[in-house]
Amino acid sequence: MDNPKHPSILRDMTHDSDILIVGGGLSGPILALALAQTGQRVTVIDALTEKVRKNATFDGRSYAVALTSQRLLEGVGVWDAIADNSQPILEIKVTDGRACQGPSPFFMHFDHAEIEEGPMGYMVQDRHIRRELLDAMAATDGITHLSGETVTAQHIDPAAASVTLASGKVLTGQLLIGADGRSSGTAERAGIKRTGWGYGQTALVSAIAHEKPHHGIAHQFFMPPGPLAILPLTGNVSSIVWSETAETAEAFNALPDADYLTMLRPRFGDFLGEISLAGQRYTYPLSLSLAHRLASDRLALIADAAHGVHPIAGQGLNAGMRDIAALAEVITDAVRRGEDPGSIAVLQRYEEWRRFDNTTLALATDGFNRLFSNDNTLMRSVRDIGMGVVNALPGLRRSFIREAAGLTGELPRLMQGQPL
Ligand SMILES: Cc1cc2nc3c(=O)[nH]c(=O)nc-3n(C[C@H](O)[C@H](O)[C@H](O)COP(=O)(O)OP(=O)(O)OC[C@H]3O[C@@H](n4cnc5c(N)ncnc54)[C@H](O)[C@@H]3O)c2cc1C
Repeated sequence: MDNPKHPSILRDMTHDSDILIVGGGLSGPILALALAQTGQRVTVIDALTEKVRKNATFDGRSYAVALTSQRLLEGVGVWDAIADNSQPILEIKVTDGRACQGPSPFFMHFDHAEIEEGPMGYMVQDRHIRRELLDAMAATDGITHLSGETVTAQHIDPAAASVTLASGKVLTGQLLIGADGRSSGTAERAGIKRTGWGYGQTALVSAIAHEKPHHGIAHQFFMPPGPLAILPLTGNVSSIVWSETAETAEAFNALPDADYLTMLRPRFGDFLGEISLAGQRYTYPLSLSLAHRLASDRLALIADAAHGVHPIAGQGLNAGMRDIAALAEVITDAVRRGEDPGSIAVLQRYEEWRRFDNTTLALATDGFNRLFSNDNTLMRSVRDIGMGVVNALPGLRRSFIREAAGLTGELPRLMQGQPL
């Protein structure tokens, strides 16, 4: 039957799907849902089983979803189901500090009331977003979802992209998307090199219950070994992303829960009253990783497969969301014009749109980490003066708020709240 949004004249039935997506983490499913809206037939393949990915109990992992990323989730039809479990981020307080000495008097305060668009973003637990994405894919006719299937090989020829699964099955499509995370095999098999380095830092991540309400305020304390972010979740619970040197983080992570909290307390402070653990504890080694290209013939990379950045600004997932919204728009417009969405001419539009932003974010987060994660007296003076200046100038403060909300730069339609 003819789909009015995608005339059959453009559909090549010799392929299993129009688009093959390797990776069903967070990014692959969001892109699949966006593309399926305009009639594309999409196959999403993930190595993990659905049971593992559905992750029904709270394991402590959560994300800061910027306002424009929330619009994307709304645009692909999953936000309404997530909204009840999300916590609006109303204010952000950034402070320079040292463990055990409390925050210094130098700080920046960003209040969402200074912009018209609404909260700067929302905190969402990993399990809620994942579950809704899996359910939405299952309910969408144009999406074939293969769980527990690993891609082991890929082949690109002038007419098609194909992948081979560990089971021996071969799937073909017009375009292959790598959404397979930081160690993207899709990029490696395509010969796309990466630049990057480790930070010698590890983030300790967990959910923390506290006595007093957080009032929707996110805190970032800059300590010499790395930042501590305290991000509000629903109820009297916050998510922490606590960066330490790799050795210290390893030692802290080896501690029993009570001792772990003893190490956290002087860093966290007592402004939220008594604290306790409210989920599992995770560690993530921190590194920067940038793919040299985002596109080649019949192949594109999105999200962590394309770039991995320091979590200092909480923007990793949001940069990936921008990739998704931009690529979905480029593909949709190309198909509407009758172009081959796998052609390099089309995919270069995506690369040109996203390359500069992604590189800028990587360099900015790298620079911030170098400026803030040290105890050098000169650097400390520079950043404290800088924070004082930003905080004193409403125009500059508003620019930071708009940046945190994702409202800057050339926004794809789905991030402006418009249909694809
Ligand atoms: C400490 C820390 C804190 C963070 N905090 C934030 C935050 O507050 N806000 C934010 O926006 N971002 C944050 N991020 C970043 C965010 O977690 C990532 O950007 C996001 O999870 C990436 O999603 P993805 O779908 O691209 O990749 P992944 O989640 O890595 O998913 C990749 C998927 O590909 C599958 N796969 C891989 N290889 C194959 C194969 N060969 N065949 C089949 N399947 C395969 C894997 O099974 C996996 O499910 C944080 C990151 C860290 C490290």
